[in-house]
Amino acid sequence: MDREAAPMTFRENANIGSGRASRGGGGGGRGGLAVGGGLGALVLALVVMLFGGDPGQVLGGGQEQAPQAENVDLADCQTGADANRSVDCRMQATMVSLEDYWTAVLPDAEPTSAILFSGSVQTQCGNATSDVGPFYCPLDRRIYLDTTFFNQLQGQLGADGGNFSQMYVLAHEYGHHIQNYTGALQYSQQDPRGPESGAVRVELQADCFAGAWAGNASRTQDEQGQLLLEELSREDIESALSAASAVGDDSIQEQMQGQVTPHTWSHGSSEQRMGWFMRGYESADPNQCDTLNVASVDDYQG
Ligand SMILES: [Zn+2]
Repeated sequence: MDREAAPMTFRENANIGSGRASRGGGGGGRGGLAVGGGLGALVLALVVMLFGGDPGQVLGGGQEQAPQAENVDLADCQTGADANRSVDCRMQATMVSLEDYWTAVLPDAEPTSAILFSGSVQTQCGNATSDVGPFYCPLDRRIYLDTTFFNQLQGQLGADGGNFSQMYVLAHEYGHHIQNYTGALQYSQQDPRGPESGAVRVELQADCFAGAWAGNASRTQDEQGQLLLEELSREDIESALSAASAVGDDSIQEQMQGQVTPHTWSHGSSEQRMGWFMRGYESADPNQCDTLNVASVDDYQG
């Protein structure tokens, strides 16, 4: 039971068998992914990614890295113990928690689902490879994630590799789905670049939504009404913050181009991403995430 020896994010006996995650190798996801051809160029314009810049360059091609995901059948993901052991099951369990939380906050918003893929995937926003990192497609309203990304998040991008750094990523993408419902997502397309742009405000709101979920996550329940997660530890929150920092525009630009150019920002700085996550977490209230109307995106301290 020692956290240091074996971090147990999920309660070992929690039932995670109903999660909305599926393995969609080449597009065979839940509900089918009918895709028109020739949409390649639309991909980057329409999807909402975890971070900006040129993902292929940031991630160094991705494909040459041997995937080390366990590649389990999600049908084997039944309990919290499975989620603590396997990254795929952890994503499924996180979806159960996210759905439980957001369905309570916004009962009229349809839950989303996550497609776990390897290498490349077809979506209604076009074809995408793992190089773009995790993303949300507003057209089919699904989250797409190749879990080998977590190797890069920890390795090249510098997150700490804790379970909650991975769960933050999924929670951020779920936030985009909520924004698709509220209408906020459109401001990302309308005003895509700059330190106070619509895109940055949308991304920081998704971080804040991830924080609001985190602030409530230990109260989310499985279908039987059992709690899903252990109480979050300081290490869990530090893991999430390490990931939010790793995908900040300034951090990525520093790595990619050796200089920071705020006029091209689309996601906000490391400080801002951590700041808005913490605002969501500490308030545990998504109404505190109104990044679209604050005077400056630096106003996260309230
Ligand atoms: Zn995003």
